[in-house]
Amino acid sequence: GESAMAYDDNNIFARILRGEIPCRKVYEDEHTLAFHDINPQAPVHVLVIPKGPYTDWNDFAARGSDTEIAALVRAVDVVAKQLGVVEDGFRVLSNIGVNGHQEVPHLHIHLFAGRRLGRMVP
Ligand code: 5GP
Repeated sequence: GESAMAYDDNNIFARILRGEIPCRKVYEDEHTLAFHDINPQAPVHVLVIPKGPYTDWNDFAARGSDTEIAALVRAVDVVAKQLGVVEDGFRVLSNIGVNGHQEVPHLHIHLFAGRRLGRMVP
């Protein structure tokens, strides 16, 4: 279907992808970038994003290639292994749209780890 809104080329993650704003990089491949969140909510808080211009999960599912989608899923796993959090466990989360309290309009997967995160609450 149609995406709810056009992709905003000037969102903060687009600027990070263009190298206009620095980030603390964790992982990068052809299709994906991962970097530390600037305002971490856990001892480990990393954002994993596709390099392509996708606003959110729905847009990515509609317009992303199977290669890009597979790359993002695998990148989350690679990052978790690289950070050494697989054995103790971790959480992945994506905020989508207004009700999901999405603040940056470029799809991002949060990866939280490093402490007992407690029950997931809305
Ligand atoms: P959202 O609420 O959209 O799911 O999450 C956006 C996340 O991006 C927040 O956790 C926020 O701390 C993070 N963030 C916002 N601006 C920057 C930035 O310039 N650099 C980095 N590394 N993270 C950012």
